[in-house]
Amino acid sequence: MQRTDVLIIGSGLAALTTALHLAETCQVTLLTKKTLQDSASAWAQGGIAAVLADDDSIEAHIRDTLTAGAGLCNEAAVRFVVENGRAAVQWLVEQGVPFTADASNASGFHLTREGGHSARRIIHATDATGRAVQKTLCEHIRSHANITLLEQHIAIDLITGDKLGFDDRNCYGAYALDNTTGEVKTFAARHTVLATGGAGKVYLYTTNPDVATGDGIAMGWRAGCRVANMEFMQFHPTCLYHPHAKSFLITEAVRGEGGLLKLPDGTRFMTAHDPRGELAPRDIVARAIDFEMKKRGLDSVYLDISHKPAEFIIEHFPTIYDRCRALGIDITREPIPVVPAMHFTGGGLITDLAARTDLQHLYAVGEVACTGLHGANRLASNSLLECLVFGRAAAADILTSPGAPEVEIPEWDASRVTDADEEIVLAHNWDELRRFMWDYVGIVRTNKRLARAARRIRLLTEEINEYYKNFRVSNDLIELRNLVLTADLIVRSAQLRRESRGLHFSSDYPDMLPITGNTVLNPRPGRVCPGACDLPTLE
Ligand SMILES: Cc1cc2nc3c(=O)[nH]c(=O)nc-3n(C[C@H](O)[C@H](O)[C@H](O)COP(=O)(O)OP(=O)(O)OC[C@H]3O[C@@H](n4cnc5c(N)ncnc54)[C@H](O)[C@@H]3O)c2cc1C
Repeated sequence: MQRTDVLIIGSGLAALTTALHLAETCQVTLLTKKTLQDSASAWAQGGIAAVLADDDSIEAHIRDTLTAGAGLCNEAAVRFVVENGRAAVQWLVEQGVPFTADASNASGFHLTREGGHSARRIIHATDATGRAVQKTLCEHIRSHANITLLEQHIAIDLITGDKLGFDDRNCYGAYALDNTTGEVKTFAARHTVLATGGAGKVYLYTTNPDVATGDGIAMGWRAGCRVANMEFMQFHPTCLYHPHAKSFLITEAVRGEGGLLKLPDGTRFMTAHDPRGELAPRDIVARAIDFEMKKRGLDSVYLDISHKPAEFIIEHFPTIYDRCRALGIDITREPIPVVPAMHFTGGGLITDLAARTDLQHLYAVGEVACTGLHGANRLASNSLLECLVFGRAAAADILTSPGAPEVEIPEWDASRVTDADEEIVLAHNWDELRRFMWDYVGIVRTNKRLARAARRIRLLTEEINEYYKNFRVSNDLIELRNLVLTADLIVRSAQLRRESRGLHFSSDYPDMLPITGNTVLNPRPGRVCPGACDLPTLE
């Protein structure tokens, strides 16, 4: 067994921020299931929203976030994040992140504008912001004496008082599989932080990296934490459509800088769907593209920025230019073929303003959490900001809390399992799940489709649980078990929402109800930790 002050699971922006804010004062063990760089954070292109310009204001950023959130944001969380935005960005600047400069701007940085924002407020490092942030912070993580980094370690489950037979609501650490040796290790911690990101891999088409399998949401749920708003899955409207371009996203900033969406014959279509045209929030744009593609039987639509000067395009979007160029598309002269893809998990484990979950000494930071910032829909570039602000808040809370007591924790028991006999079952179930989630629980939902998905999830859950009981755990099995549970939470939440709002659209309930609430699911009904955030709940 390994003991540490703080166990952080994940290595995206949420994990790195939390770790670096803690490491001066305590010992941190950071587990990540692939390499330190593997995360959605490293793939972020657009940037980080914060009020940095003189002609912008905190109130305007709050207003834009609340408008996007369609009545379901927690206003206290929104204010907390927006008010802490400037300090969060300043911290990144101090860490050495090379944001794109602009001497003509009072902030000293170039700020872009994205859909749903009423001002230019997105600070960025050209069109590869995530890569720049991740690279800078990873260097600090690797060189910090108080941080033990364990790559290729996938957390399996949290260790709770419940499981140890204690009458408490504590989290004592986690079990994790070392993917290089096959050994399951026990990590005991005074505080545990889930920073495992989202669940894009639940869907067939996603902009997310392979690591986004909903592990933290599933681990938290099994440990007894409530989840909220899992029906709000955000589909990015513009993912590059090309047989050799897996998950390559064309940032919203292309539309922000004048990119136009067109049908194959060159006609614009967004103004027929929303007066804001290409600058409408991304759910509206995604639904409009889905509608046009289904109506006309198209494989893709086109995003065209070729009317802008070539130097402007290459200067602002070098990564997209290079990637498309490599695939034979010159974006300075021709439009880019695009389709929507699952992009962001809007719901997650319920947390308060200190990132605390329903379990004592368990925190959730980043996309794994439901802080109330996004409500029914995420405003572009608010999520990296959320990682920064709540990472810091979690660290501050941890530093003033005593943590879980030291107790005896049994090692992982693998005495009753054998090596898996048919790995093909995993591959098959994985494909099946992602395809029916895409077909039945995608951009447009219906009661029938949700019921079909629910039936299939029941079957898959039985099969996977059986497999889990009998065979030695593997990376694929852990991920699939988590994916099917996350899919179940998405479907159950979508079935509870009898309206269309934000990222959830049902043809059976196309209107928005005048009164609504958050979709809260509780794994242990009647048992809620008193300190944890309470959301107004959908009945
Ligand atoms: C292509 C793309 C572009 C985006 N662009 C922007 C943008 O411009 N601006 C913006 O604000 N947001 C953007 N987003 C969203 C944003 O990147 C994410 O919401 C944010 O990075 C999430 O950070 P995170 O730290 O919570 O999770 P992640 O960055 O996804 O990190 C999760 C980490 O947890 C690890 N992990 C997961 N499960 C386990 C386990 N069981 N055991 C151990 N480790 C585990 C993963 O390997 C990974 O390291 C974008 C997302 C994508 C996919």
